[in-house]
Amino acid sequence: MKIELINTGSELLLGFTVNTHVNYLARKLGERGLRFCRQTSVSDDRAEMRAVVAEAMARSEVIIITGGLGPTSDDFTRDVVAELCGRKLLRDETVAAAITERFRKRGIHKPQSVDVQSMVPEGATVLPNPNGTAPGLYLEHQDRQLFLLPGPPRELKPMVENHVLPRLPGRPALDCRVFKVAGLGESQVEEKVAPVLASLTGLELGYCARMGEVEVRIISDKPTNDEAERRIRAELRESIFGMGDDRLEDIVIKLLTAAGQTVATAESCTGGQIAHRLTNVSGSSAAFLGGWVTYSNQAKQRDLGVPGDLLAEHGAVSEPVACAMAEGARQRSGATFALSATGIAGPTGGTPEKPVGLVYVALATPTRTVCLKQQWLLDRETFKFFVAQTALDLLRRELIAK
Ligand code: ATP
Ligand code: MG
Repeated sequence: MKIELINTGSELLLGFTVNTHVNYLARKLGERGLRFCRQTSVSDDRAEMRAVVAEAMARSEVIIITGGLGPTSDDFTRDVVAELCGRKLLRDETVAAAITERFRKRGIHKPQSVDVQSMVPEGATVLPNPNGTAPGLYLEHQDRQLFLLPGPPRELKPMVENHVLPRLPGRPALDCRVFKVAGLGESQVEEKVAPVLASLTGLELGYCARMGEVEVRIISDKPTNDEAERRIRAELRESIFGMGDDRLEDIVIKLLTAAGQTVATAESCTGGQIAHRLTNVSGSSAAFLGGWVTYSNQAKQRDLGVPGDLLAEHGAVSEPVACAMAEGARQRSGATFALSATGIAGPTGGTPEKPVGLVYVALATPTRTVCLKQQWLLDRETFKFFVAQTALDLLRRELIAK
């Protein structure tokens, strides 16, 4: 069965609105073992919309259309669908009364233009909209199912839950597993994973590079996915930090909390990003004690006890200083671990010996201090995120190594 999505709205194609409906609806369908074969965005242009809907009706059994049910002159969905299905638009008294009642309750004048929202294609089912005036519409036409849904997300979502999903065939949820990988690039991940999965038939394999991490996605039946998962884990091992929507900071806080351990941070070039990400996790107070943003040399000396001669001899962006920052933060906070980062975010401030993008990330543990040296070619904000990612991953690997 082919299911297709059409999102209407010029704002989507002008770049003013992010099309969140695709992501929401695709995930909802996935939970029921279904997926879209196509998605089209179309501007508020009657002829364009007519063409897109006609094409969809020619090839797909289920067509979900969002937006364009409103009262304004750029809302055509109802008209276009009625025309293509050869149905008259008839006034639905129940809908008209509900709209009038909505305006009465709010104590505001009802513009005449909203009356168009009570027009229903002959034979269509009205899908109630408790959060707005435009009801959704459902039509069955020549073995096709058509859903017309309002654009505003808060109106669309309950309608999908209550009136769309129950009308679609139920299947076991799509067995889709997403492995989240840190510390390896996309091609490195593929080099490891692709050969060991090559012999599995009926497996859909995908990769997605995200900021500082890579996702490996498999879709298949359960036995095939179980086998694929076993092979992926055997290859990527501790580089896999989580599944699905897990964030690195979630995993770090979870591991620390489970072990009854704590962390503190000493940040220079990341400007607090490591602490920020750790504190984005609900319950982080059990594991995160506090942090310093020590940008100047004076702050590194005063707040973390970094020796002045170390700074003079090696410079602030150096392994000895990164280690001293982490050790200082660990001692002064009393945390089990401390993370530090010192680097040159750029675009200015680089030298031949210490180019822009150079960074040292250190981890102080009860027994030793380790330091990573990295060189990134990134804009300032992305650099900060990647460095924080490196720091969090360094701690995560320490926590699972025990
Ligand atoms: P209205 O009665 O508000 O006119 P409508 O059914 O005609 O509803 P649209 O006019 O297409 O819907 O969209 C209304 C609002 O919903 C838009 O301003 C936009 O913010 C939001 N919206 C519409 N489509 C999407 C989408 N695909 N993703 C995210 N938001 C959307
Ligand atoms: Mg509208």
